[in-house]
Amino acid sequence: MAEPTIYEISSQDRIGFRFPACDVPETALPEGLIRDELPMPEVSELDVIRHFTNLSRLNYSIDSGYYPLGSCTMKYNPKINEEVARLPGFAFSHPLQPVETVQGNLAMMYELQLWLAEICGMAGVTLQPAAGAQGEYTGVLIIRAYHHSRGDLKRTKMLIPDSAHGTNPATSAMSGFEVVGITTDATGNVDLDALKAVLDDTVAGLMLTNPNTLGLFDQNVEEVIRLVHEAGGLVYGDGANLNALLGIVRPGDLGFDIMHFNLHKTFSTPHGGGGPGSGPVGVAKHLVDFLPFPLVGIIEEGDEETPPLYGFVRPEKTIGRMKSFHGQFGMMVRAYNYISMHGPDGLRDIAESAVLNANYLLARLRNTYNVPFDRICMHEFVMEGHLDDAPDVHALDIAKRLMDYDFHPPTNYFPLIVHEALMIEPTETENKQTLDRFADVLIKIAEEARTNPDLLHTAPHHTPVGRLDEVRAAKELVLCCWLPDKI
Ligand SMILES: *Cc1c(COP(=O)(O)O)cnc(C)c1O
Repeated sequence: MAEPTIYEISSQDRIGFRFPACDVPETALPEGLIRDELPMPEVSELDVIRHFTNLSRLNYSIDSGYYPLGSCTMKYNPKINEEVARLPGFAFSHPLQPVETVQGNLAMMYELQLWLAEICGMAGVTLQPAAGAQGEYTGVLIIRAYHHSRGDLKRTKMLIPDSAHGTNPATSAMSGFEVVGITTDATGNVDLDALKAVLDDTVAGLMLTNPNTLGLFDQNVEEVIRLVHEAGGLVYGDGANLNALLGIVRPGDLGFDIMHFNLHKTFSTPHGGGGPGSGPVGVAKHLVDFLPFPLVGIIEEGDEETPPLYGFVRPEKTIGRMKSFHGQFGMMVRAYNYISMHGPDGLRDIAESAVLNANYLLARLRNTYNVPFDRICMHEFVMEGHLDDAPDVHALDIAKRLMDYDFHPPTNYFPLIVHEALMIEPTETENKQTLDRFADVLIKIAEEARTNPDLLHTAPHHTPVGRLDEVRAAKELVLCCWLPDKI
């Protein structure tokens, strides 16, 4: 049974709004603007509220339940962020306003650049990129510009470990580099021999995620970086997993030359369908001249009486503009608020709790599920969604069955180097009761897999939409919503 559309609940002459009394002289509309047949639903305010409230209940959201979702850190976004981003001085400013009229906004951006640089031990930061992937693109273009500026044109290869996110090879290929894969060793680190075998003067750089997508801190990270530098390459840090390091380790101190932040992961700005991303990029001293234009800078120093004048500055060898205007300003406001709310010690607490939560879940689940790279993890871990004594049950079945217990499934089938991967990232924002409930359910599902595998094969049973043919659902997207007959 289909949920009725707003047109189907329409009934002639029902009205849900009231215009204020007209306080200007009435004039006739120009001829061409009048449309006789404009089909509009005629519904009362109550009809509208119930319709959209019921629709929203068909969705799962971070405000209604737990997301143990890998790498993407679908963590709770504090509501105070939203209130701050809606302050009129932020929400109603326009990017084309004269800089004198938006000094507060520029001061905020300037400080955020400094804070991110400090958090990651980098010398300069651009706030422009619109997401992590665009941050990578910015970073890889900077790597290319750096080599070209030195007349070093033969560096055409980008090294990418096989535990990397798909955006890393995609970015490199898009920027004209040849992508060379590096394998992971049995402990979950970059395989040093594999790395040494491909390092030469045709290597532009290495893109490294640390902790990697297995949730493991590379124990040889400084050696990896040293080897790449020794060969004349630069090291890019995919900062999507920064949640694990905040206030503890700075990528710049480890030797990374360049990295991106995902404000919509680490710094709690809304994510995915909930809002645009933001992927600032930080660079070490030797790369600041290549940053995109414009950066926010101080164009007139202040003194005790007058504040400094903020404006836009152009790095000397800039790779150019990466995004219209100045990036996702609303996301910067939210991240700024989040960082200032926590302060340095609070940021460290975030990382410590995220790592503790992940290790707690790992400890509760490792006797039930196979964990291929089983050592102390960072903010996430990857286990197999496959049990030796339930051979017909797959990661997908376990993920779908979790929905019946009102949990969002974890990321599944990624990273590719783990068979039937289930990647679990609890985040720092969940309490022990939620983590225990989640672990209990996963242990129960393992039992169901042995005793009643069909229950899993046909799951989910209690959601508004049952098991979909995912290929068909993607190819024949139906955006109107459905309620099952049983509701
Ligand atoms: C999310 C993610 C990216 C890409 O970031 P977007 O903001 O989604 O473009 C890259 N690498 C890793 C490890 C990620 O988790």
